[in-house]
Amino acid sequence: MKLIGAHVSAAGGVQNAPQNASALGANAFALFTKNQRQWVAKPLEQDVINKFKACCQLLGYGPESILPHDSYLINLGAPEAEKLEKSRNAFIDEMQRCQQLGLTLLNFHPGSHLKKISERDCLALIAESINLAHAEVPEVVAVIENTAGQGSNLGWRFEHLAEIIEQVEDKSRVGVCIDTCHTFAAGYDLRSESATEATFAEFDQVVGMQYLRGMHLNDSKGKLGSHLDRHHSLGEGEIGWDCFRFLMQDSRFDNMPLVLETINPDIWRQEIETLRSFIPSNS
Ligand SMILES: [Zn+2]
Ligand SMILES: [Zn+2]
Repeated sequence: MKLIGAHVSAAGGVQNAPQNASALGANAFALFTKNQRQWVAKPLEQDVINKFKACCQLLGYGPESILPHDSYLINLGAPEAEKLEKSRNAFIDEMQRCQQLGLTLLNFHPGSHLKKISERDCLALIAESINLAHAEVPEVVAVIENTAGQGSNLGWRFEHLAEIIEQVEDKSRVGVCIDTCHTFAAGYDLRSESATEATFAEFDQVVGMQYLRGMHLNDSKGKLGSHLDRHHSLGEGEIGWDCFRFLMQDSRFDNMPLVLETINPDIWRQEIETLRSFIPSNS
């Protein structure tokens, strides 16, 4: 089954996110479990946890359909010890929040070397960060999002993702979220069904489709290989509809959250409907 949704607001508390997703006709969603621009958040209250779980159950959202996203401040490959420790502690807190909410996936951007350490060293720090988080928190899967490669962000080449995964001890708890905008901006063509097929064949060869745990469906304002992280509404950017039609027709993308982070929430419901219209009727 295709699980399609959007990154919805959790304003007023995470317990509001499932209802916001349901209002879009979504059967998946993403959310921040704390303010994404702050380091520290107050712990989740038991009442909030209970309400979130009850709403998810009532509206039919299982953990396989929910892809929480961590704070933008966290850099798990930070070259400086103090920043690295702060990031690792914040990441462990994010994982614990997921676990408290009964969630099993945590989507994050791998990290940046800030031109102070080598790519290889930065990727090793990221893998070590994941190993440390695994040791602290059970069950939750660390889902690495590929990036556009803006600035010194790693994770834009599939080889970066593979190199991180290779150094993660518990491979059952590491996965990848492919963001179509980031993929395209990183230089992987998605402008036709055949280009999309070739890009995922390369992903399968370098990383392995078994690691794909979710996707962000975004069109791109930036051109192929521009390294610009600028999302656009589906069909309105440089990628176009063919990529998204391909994804809807391929069962390898079943049973994982497929999440819109497109720029106009007013048309999310319509974007979801259009995506659904591409799903073959026999699946
Ligand atoms: Zn992201
Ligand atoms: Zn994304």
